[in-house]
Amino acid sequence: MRNVLIVISGPSGVGKGTLVKLLLEEDPTLALSVSCTTRPPRKGERNGRDYYFIEKEEFLSRIRENDFLEYDEHFGNYYGTPRSFVERQLKEKSVVLEIDVVGALNAKRIMPQAVLVMIAPPSDEALEKRLARRGSESEEEREERLRRMRYELEQQKYYDYVVVNDDLQEAKRRLQEIINREKKKT
Ligand code: ADP
Ligand code: 5GP
Repeated sequence: MRNVLIVISGPSGVGKGTLVKLLLEEDPTLALSVSCTTRPPRKGERNGRDYYFIEKEEFLSRIRENDFLEYDEHFGNYYGTPRSFVERQLKEKSVVLEIDVVGALNAKRIMPQAVLVMIAPPSDEALEKRLARRGSESEEEREERLRRMRYELEQQKYYDYVVVNDDLQEAKRRLQEIINREKKKT
């Protein structure tokens, strides 16, 4: 079985973090790539677990040193995937990236073997509710995230798989199925 690079994307609030956490708890052959970001931590987030929270100057200097496999800017903050971690881990495990659509398409260009999975909400309304319940953004920020959601969902056509996150357990099973199928490909 081969090690695969699984790239999970989807609009903010769709349940990517929740699903990835469940996957990793159940499958020791998966490693999560922890991204770097210049945004401040949310309540409950931990440096090194959820993100590496770094200053903008450090981020810009790491871009110059080609330290990121891909990076992007959202809502005024930078986010990037550390290249060395992904390349090192892939020798031993399958690696999960949880990144946005632009980043996913860039990652696929650089590593064409990457498997792109889009997590989609059952409906626009369901996503609005989830974002509001999480409560970590202002109304204005939520509006911007919803606008971005429409754009991101349009990019489904470039993806290898789309998983609708309606029932959480069902979405998790579908993701596990996809990963196992991809591992068996030669
Ligand atoms: P993301 O990582 O995509 O931004 P989160 O994993 O933070 O999204 O999920 C956003 C909110 O939606 C959280 O409060 C989470 O508990 C909830 N959620 C996730 N999946 C489901 C689901 N299938 N049904 C209902 N609520 C969900
Ligand atoms: P949040 O601030 O909600 O954690 O993330 C905002 C957006 O940044 C999400 O769409 C998330 O998937 C994306 N993101 C997180 N890490 C990375 C990364 O390393 N690269 C890119 N391109 N996007 C990322």
